[in-house]
Amino acid sequence: MAWEVTRTVRVRLDVPDNRKSDLHATNSKFQYCANHTADWAWRYPEEDCVTSKSEAEAAIYDDLREETDYLHANLVQKAIKRATDDIDNCVDRLTEGENTSRPQYDTFSIVYDKRAASYYRDKVSLATVNGRVECEYELPYDVEGTPHGEYLLNDDYSFSTSTVHYDSEADEFYLHAAMKREIDASSPEKAEHSKVLGVDCNVDDHIAVTSTGQFVGNADYFNHTRHEFENRRASLQQTGTRSAHLTVQRIGDRFGRWSEDYLHRCSNELVEEARRHVCTHIAFEDLEQIRDRISDGKKFQQWAFRELQRQVAYKAEEDGIIVDTVEPQYTSQQCSMCGCTLEENRDGQHFECLDCSYTVNADYNAAKNVARKLALKLQRGQKSPAGGAFCQYALKSGTMTVNATDVASDTPVSAERESTDKPTA
Ligand SMILES: [Zn+2]
Repeated sequence: MAWEVTRTVRVRLDVPDNRKSDLHATNSKFQYCANHTADWAWRYPEEDCVTSKSEAEAAIYDDLREETDYLHANLVQKAIKRATDDIDNCVDRLTEGENTSRPQYDTFSIVYDKRAASYYRDKVSLATVNGRVECEYELPYDVEGTPHGEYLLNDDYSFSTSTVHYDSEADEFYLHAAMKREIDASSPEKAEHSKVLGVDCNVDDHIAVTSTGQFVGNADYFNHTRHEFENRRASLQQTGTRSAHLTVQRIGDRFGRWSEDYLHRCSNELVEEARRHVCTHIAFEDLEQIRDRISDGKKFQQWAFRELQRQVAYKAEEDGIIVDTVEPQYTSQQCSMCGCTLEENRDGQHFECLDCSYTVNADYNAAKNVARKLALKLQRGQKSPAGGAFCQYALKSGTMTVNATDVASDTPVSAERESTDKPTA
């Protein structure tokens, strides 16, 4: 099995002065297409939004080309795709009961695939409203150890669909070059190119929730069965007879088998989820440190979590997936979107960030933090923090990458950086 990794390299473009206006005009038309697609496809709450790119293309592509005076065909297609992709994410959020609204495009950002741009190691040629414009890269004098040297100029990586941005303060254009490389899962580089599935364990609601939004096991049912067993045992023990004693033992054994079986189903689901997302690691919170949080201090809960982790580690090993733990501090209070950490953010199962208003299931939010913590830990452990290591964590829609800056500041990456690197079989 191989999987694809993408590194985004930001490189300043040397745009000829007399061609800057062409890029601005191109961006205006690109935005026009994206906004019009969003207008057309956004139908919430009256009816279902359109999330299919081909459906949108069939309906409005011809009009958009005409209305933009025949903007390059692939730019129109990419604008349509951007809007339908974003709406698809919005629909995901709506399904989860989160707040969202129709996407709007007002910042400079143009998506260039290989038909609207020709990528070279020293320059790029971009389609504009006024023919192509050739822009040389402004590279650092010494590229060794920089992202430019490691990816942009590295033949192991090839260009894929990238974006062009504009910094109005500096009046500079930038290419965010998406550099792709296929990596064999069995190669030694696997350790450096890690991808983490985060798991949050709970004493109520679901037993485990993953950073990919998978809810596993019913903790309430699990606890209820346990209580029934306890009650039966208590009443039998009161009779004090020898046969009652033997019965207690027998139902004790039966319950032991039942709960192990139940956890086996949960651990299978977790490992399956890690496989499905081609993860190299599964992250749990360190059990020693969450003991305080298990409110009624139940030995049973501790046993259950420990057993679940043991089973997951054992099963994951077959696939070469490593199970590791992180410190549990603040995983439940921190916003996985903006990093704001406040006790008040969480109210039972409900998480609502007081800073950015991100509203989400509290355990799912925690699972994303657990995943991010291990990705950061793995990144820190790498020898060359500036390049080499490629640490990601798996989310419901694609993956998030932690980079050297994130490691230094330990602030979460923003949602815009959520990429969609998909594993290839
Ligand atoms: Zn927030």
